[in-house]
Amino acid sequence: MNLFKKLSSLFSPGKTDADAYWIAARCNRCGEVIRTRVSLSNDLSVEYDGDATSYFCRKVLMGEGHCFQRVEVELTFDANRRLLNREIHGGHFVDEQD
Ligand SMILES: [Zn+2]
Repeated sequence: MNLFKKLSSLFSPGKTDADAYWIAARCNRCGEVIRTRVSLSNDLSVEYDGDATSYFCRKVLMGEGHCFQRVEVELTFDANRRLLNREIHGGHFVDEQD
């Protein structure tokens, strides 16, 4: 029962998950769309450049199929944890409406 509650809160949309930045990426090799969650409070490493503070996150995504292509995503956020820049290797980003 506790596990079910945890799972259902994981998958229920919205308010409790303002902490999250979601990535959707399509693998260049097999076309699988891989989604992953970046926690803005746990997954970011802080970087100082002079007076500027930014946050950086690198994720390696692997699909659930038999494809062994790794999709590497690098995200840069500003001091307010808003996305500044994103790069991807081995795949490309899928916009939400796709
Ligand atoms: Zn793939």
